[in-house]
Amino acid sequence: MSLSSVQPALSSLKTCQVDIGTGMDIVSDVALDLVEAQGTDDSPSLRKLEQMMLECAALDREINCFVESVEQTTAHVRREPPQAMFSLLNSVKNRFAELKDRDSDVQRHSKVVAFRDNIRKSLAQVNQSAAAHVEEELDEDIAVTQSQTNFTCPLTQVEMVNPVRNKKCQHYYDQEAALTMIKTRHNNKKKFRCPVVGCSNSDVKQSDLELDLVMKRLIQTNKRQSGKS
Ligand SMILES: [Zn+2]
Repeated sequence: MSLSSVQPALSSLKTCQVDIGTGMDIVSDVALDLVEAQGTDDSPSLRKLEQMMLECAALDREINCFVESVEQTTAHVRREPPQAMFSLLNSVKNRFAELKDRDSDVQRHSKVVAFRDNIRKSLAQVNQSAAAHVEEELDEDIAVTQSQTNFTCPLTQVEMVNPVRNKKCQHYYDQEAALTMIKTRHNNKKKFRCPVVGCSNSDVKQSDLELDLVMKRLIQTNKRQSGKS
């Protein structure tokens, strides 16, 4: 029995997690379509989507626990006499159960939290633009103010395609530009400072960035509307 097959298996599991994350983003996007179309956050279809999010979150958590338990146990067994290999499966099982117990709250999964957050924001947006529509007849300036919302990436100086929000300083960047920048800076053993003028955040990390679907949709809607006129 050899441990050499463990690492490739773990990395393919981690690839699965990326796909689960993408799937969760797609479900969130569909949910926002629903909220916009129905103007409510209370519908059976939306509840079904939320259920899907929770199931994905549970799966994601489970993979995390599994990967962690295998990594810890195999690291441990390397330092033990060879016969420890025989109890490896049990050790992994026990560690997995422990980790799963400790970390069972899928409600706190970052994408589940963002999902609920986005729905709330999107609903506020729907209500707000309905109100703005009425006001628009009184005051044409509102349309101008709305289109002036800043969609420009501070890195590329062009309109963002996939806006990510920095959880630490709340600033937005285009995902691709930000990730490239972080990678380049880190390769040179340097930190990436938030490019927004006056921002004190001197160390932007990839884990601080979260795709903002509501913002992405705003940009797309704005693009469609300005294309029409
Ligand atoms: Zn910033």
